[in-house]
Amino acid sequence: MNAPAADTTDQYGVVGHPVAHSWSPFIHGIFSRETGQAMTYRLYDFTPEEFHQKAREFFKQGGRGLNITLPHKIAAVDLADDLTARAAHAAAVNTFALRNDGTILGDNTDGTGLVRDLCDNQGIVITHRRILIIGAGGASRGVLAPLLALSPAEIVIANRTSERAEQLAKTFEKLGTLHGVGFRQISGGTFDLIINATSASLSGDIPAVPAGVVAPETVCYDMAYGKTDTPFVRWALKLGCTRALQGWGMLVEQAAESFRVWRGVRPSTAPVLTALKERALLPSMTAQ
Ligand code: NDP
Repeated sequence: MNAPAADTTDQYGVVGHPVAHSWSPFIHGIFSRETGQAMTYRLYDFTPEEFHQKAREFFKQGGRGLNITLPHKIAAVDLADDLTARAAHAAAVNTFALRNDGTILGDNTDGTGLVRDLCDNQGIVITHRRILIIGAGGASRGVLAPLLALSPAEIVIANRTSERAEQLAKTFEKLGTLHGVGFRQISGGTFDLIINATSASLSGDIPAVPAGVVAPETVCYDMAYGKTDTPFVRWALKLGCTRALQGWGMLVEQAAESFRVWRGVRPSTAPVLTALKERALLPSMTAQ
C-alpha cells in the first residue's frame, strides 16, 4: 500500500491567547479562494510561556507564515531574525513570514491597515487635519509613522497614563507635529478625526476624554470592533458625532497586507467587506 501523499499545502495561521474569537481564518479563507492560492490558515492558542518555542516549532514543521495577536505582538519582536522598518518603528510584530533561507521576517501591517481603511475605504482625509489618538500602547505606536507620513496638521496622543503618551510623542517627534498628554490636558477644541487606540472597549469602558473634543463633523474611529456598537462608538454618537466607525476595515486591510507579504499577491478586500456587511457588521455606506 502506498504511503499517503504529504500535505504540500502551505500552512499559515494566527497565534494569540485567547484566539478562538479571531476572524482571521474567515478573512484569509476568502482571500485564498479569491486569489486561487493553495494554503491553509488555522488558529493557534499559545500561552505567553510557550509562545517562542511553539512558534519556532510551527516553522520547523513547514509552516510559512503567522499573524500575531494579543498578547504576543511585543514578544514576537525578539523571535524574528529581522524586522521590516515599519515593524521596527512600531516595536511590535503582527506578521511572521518564513524566508527562503529559513529565517523569520517580522513585519507589522497594522498601520498600513488603518491608513488604507481610513483613506481608501472611508474616504477620510488626513493631510492638514487635527487628529486625536487616544491610547499609547502597541496599536497607537504602530499607526503613528504611517499617519504622520500623510502630513496631518497635528496629532495629539492622549493617554490615561500621561507619561506613556509624552514618551511616545517624543519617540516620533522628528516625523511631524505631535504632542503627548493626559486626558485632562487635551486642549484646542474639537478634532477632525479621533481614533480610539485603547483597549477600553474590550472591558466595556470609555476613555475619560472631555466631550468637547467631538463636533458633529468629527469622524470617530474605534480600532476595537464588535458585533454591535462598541462603547466608544456609542459615546461618540451620543455626543452628536455623525460618523462613528469600528475597526473592522482595519482588521481586513491589515490581513490583506499580511497576505501580500506572504504570497506576493494583493487580495481584493471588497469580497470580505461585502461578507461583513451581509452579516451587518459593517454599515452598507462604507465605500470600497
Ligand atoms: P495595549 O495593551 O498595548 O494598550 C492599551 C492602551 O489602552 C493603553 O494606552 C492603556 O492605557 C489604554 N487603556 C486600557 N484600558 C483603559 C481604560 N479603561 N481607560 C482608558 N485607557 C485604557 O493594547 P493595543 O495597543 O495592542 O490595542 C489597543 C486596541 O486596538 C485593542 O482594542 C485592540 O483590539 C485594537 N486593535 C485593533 C486592530 C484592528 O485590526 N482593528 C489592530 C490592533 C489593535 P494605560 O497606558 O494608561 O494603561
